Amino acid sequence: VGGTAREPAMKVVHISVEMAPVAKVGGLADVVTSLSRAIQELGHSVEVILPKYDCLKYNYIQNLQETERFHWGGTGINVWNGTVEGLPVIFLEPENGMFWAGCVYGRRDDGQRFGFFCNAALEYLLQSGRRPDIIHCHDWSSAPVSWLFREQYKQSNLANACVVFTIHNLEFGTALIGRAMQFADKATTVSETYASEVSGNPAISPHRHKFSGIRNGIDLEIWDPYNNASIPLPYTSKDVVEGKKAAKKELQSRLGLSQADRPLVGIITRLTAQKGIHLIKHAIWRTLDRGGQVVLLGSAPDPRIQSDFNNLANQLHNSKGDMARLCLHYDEPLSHLIYAGADFILIPSMFEPCGLTQMIAMRYGAIPVARKTGGLNDTVFDVDHDHERAAYNGVEPNGFSFDGADAPGLDYALNRAFSSWYESRDWFHGLCKRVMEQDWSWNRPALDYMELYHNARK
Ligand code: ADP
Repeated sequence: VGGTAREPAMKVVHISVEMAPVAKVGGLADVVTSLSRAIQELGHSVEVILPKYDCLKYNYIQNLQETERFHWGGTGINVWNGTVEGLPVIFLEPENGMFWAGCVYGRRDDGQRFGFFCNAALEYLLQSGRRPDIIHCHDWSSAPVSWLFREQYKQSNLANACVVFTIHNLEFGTALIGRAMQFADKATTVSETYASEVSGNPAISPHRHKFSGIRNGIDLEIWDPYNNASIPLPYTSKDVVEGKKAAKKELQSRLGLSQADRPLVGIITRLTAQKGIHLIKHAIWRTLDRGGQVVLLGSAPDPRIQSDFNNLANQLHNSKGDMARLCLHYDEPLSHLIYAGADFILIPSMFEPCGLTQMIAMRYGAIPVARKTGGLNDTVFDVDHDHERAAYNGVEPNGFSFDGADAPGLDYALNRAFSSWYESRDWFHGLCKRVMEQDWSWNRPALDYMELYHNARK
């Protein structure tokens, strides 16, 4: 199959250490899968090369079979083929067992193992006679693809390929990232605002001319209030009020909250410094002051933060048990019910490369209250202050946002949000309907990536 008549089909290969749902740790996994699906749907050929971890979620792989074996780097490497979410995936299994570690990350030699994987993946592409147009690598973990390609494969039969490198979070491995930037044909990160926020970083600034931001999208099949086993009443924008009312009731009764008609603020997040912990705590109290209910779903990798929130949970559950519930663990089905049942979703991140929460919230007709940073700034447009910027981006204003990193900033957004709920309910319901109709899928970003791929080849 080809693309459109004007556009011949491209061959894209992702070399990645994560892929949803078979090897998912964070957002990188989701992007690799959903971007690939979107590009494939445009008529191009996409393959993903992944380490064959012993901890893969094998039930999500169709037609897995061992197809070849090659020798490289002092070990035999078994090559497995399978299908994940409709995408062809090549799993590399070094016989020395370096990916039989029970985890994706977390070993002392992660850098070495992934470096080996990157090199083996390029070698496989060469030896199997593939001629990709684009080799796409991601974050520090497959950054080595960028320079290994230039150093070892630029004179080979792979030479026609161009390397695209995407940064999902600059916090990790800046040394590797700088080197990958240097040798990649094009580099991206996951939103325009984050791209400009990090453009002064020494790993990036020398390479700004080939660096740009393309925002992530959400998968409309996974996040679909009309087809979702976790919510009581399927709904679309046309019956958003009824659908959300039923979901709120179910959420309140499941969590033991009072069923009074109150504005409900949902917070769904990893509890780390990035996510604005001090503002999250402040917002919980502020919401209760304004007569609202709060549901927080979050888990903290840092045990000190987790125990801090355990204490806060005890305090709240004792004093305000019918108005606030903190669920301090990871629970995907519950997250769906919160998106559906909440009036507002709060995202006060200190920095946010793209962020998915705000886009999922809108898909479920929940209004984002977000700090203006990174991808939040590119997707949340304040109903009072961002008319022009929204129009420029081709969308209607869709939420409440704030600058600064202190309580008054957040209060300014939250107070306006509550006022709209208490005083202008019809307007508020119109807003819920409107945000549901906005398109935060991969449709548009996939076209942006195609343009980038074409520009890389010019
Ligand atoms: P990040 O990747 O930095 O954590 P994103 O906004 O890009 O932030 O993605 C967060 C994703 O993880 C969203 O899909 C959100 O719903 C989900 N999530 C975060 N915390 C939890 C949790 N405790 N339980 C279920 N889902 C969660």
